[in-house]
Parts: sequence; C-alpha cells; structure tokens
Amino acid sequence: MAKKLSVVVSVYNEELGLNQFYQHTSPILKEMSQRTGWDYELIFVNDGSRDGSLDLLREFAAADEKVAVVNFAANRGHEAAMIAGIDYSSGDGVVCMDADLQHPPESIPEIVEKFDEGYDVISMVRTARADAGIFKRITSAAFYKVMNAMSGKTKFENNSSDFFAISRRVALVLKNDYRERVRFLRGYVQNVGFKKLH
Ligand code: UDP
Ligand code: MG
Repeated sequence: MAKKLSVVVSVYNEELGLNQFYQHTSPILKEMSQRTGWDYELIFVNDGSRDGSLDLLREFAAADEKVAVVNFAANRGHEAAMIAGIDYSSGDGVVCMDADLQHPPESIPEIVEKFDEGYDVISMVRTARADAGIFKRITSAAFYKVMNAMSGKTKFENNSSDFFAISRRVALVLKNDYRERVRFLRGYVQNVGFKKLH
C-alpha cells in the first residue's frame, strides 16, 4: 500500500494568510505525491481562532478531499494544537509546521525522501535568522544553554524549530508517553530515540 504523509498545521487567527498558505502548499504536496508515490493529508488544527480562519478551512476541506480540519472551541496554544493534529493524523510520516509560511513548504518533498531513507526524526533548522534581531538570538542561545545544563544526558539542539517531521512510531511514542500539560515538543522529538537527521 502507498505510504502517506500527514502535514499538521496549527492555525490561530490566520485569515489574512491562510489562502496563500493553502494555494502555495497544496500544489507542492500534489507534485510530491506524483513523484514519490506517497499519498498525503493536510490537517489544519484551528486553535480557537476568533477571526474567519475556521470558515476558510471548512471551504478548503469542502473542495479538497485531502484537507481535514480539527477544531478547538477555545484557544489552547500552539503545542496543544500540534499534539491534537499528530493524534488525529494517520500518515506513515508527520510534518508539523506553522500556517504563516515561515516554514517553507518547499522542504516537504525532501522530508519525504528522508523518510524513505529511514529517518524517524527530521528537524529543520534556521540557517539565517533574518526575522530575528540580536536580542532573540542571544535569548535563544541562552535558553538552550540553560536547558542543556539542567537536562543531564538529554541534549537539545540549538535553534530547533517548530518545523519538524516524525515517523508514525515517534508519533505513537508522543501520543502514549509524553502527555504533560506543559510540553517542550520540539525538544522531545529529538530525544525519543530512532534514526535522526538534523
Ligand atoms: N498558533 C496557534 N495557537 C496560538 C498561537 C499561534 O496555533 O495560540 C499558530 C499560528 O497560527 C502559527 C503557529 O502557531 O501557525 C506559530 O505562531 P506564530 O507565527 O504566532 O509564532 P512565531 O512565528 O512567533 O513562532
Ligand atoms: Mg510565525
């Protein structure tokens, strides 16, 4: 049976950019599917948006069988939304990304190639922080320094982002073993074990 990629996108008040995200990402996924033989699903998790995001998402889903919408009645935060999307997903691989095109969907075909090579955890890193000033860079570096000092043998990569991909077995580990209310999802995915590309 064909493998399937699940793309999980969390959405909070994104009505201005959502159409652009969908129009840009969907053809990339279609092309990826034709080229690699992987089927796909595009799962939007609406995290209690107060704008017209949910209406837009329902329009996408009505017109495109690949699109699914998970809806939170209230805002629960980005990580809770991602967890819900991962729980809902059924793909052999799951890509988690933001809805505002800060995570380039152009990377998705390459992620699928890496799944085919057997990687379980694929973390995208920022190569240039054009969006972040010096303050963010320093606080971000300090954050990882403190985390790594406190966390014993568990080490977190600098600059890890919320743009990552995990295999189904990692998704199951997250589903079963990482259910704290306060989470550090981008760190967990690097430390669940399995073959990792960074
Ligand atoms: N988001 C969410 N719930 C929230 C805040 C944000 O699902 O309470 C989504 C948002 O729509 C976006 C992603 O999480 O897709 C990242 O949010 P944002 O762009 O605000 O974060 P940043 O780029 O500053 O990391
Ligand atoms: Mg953003």
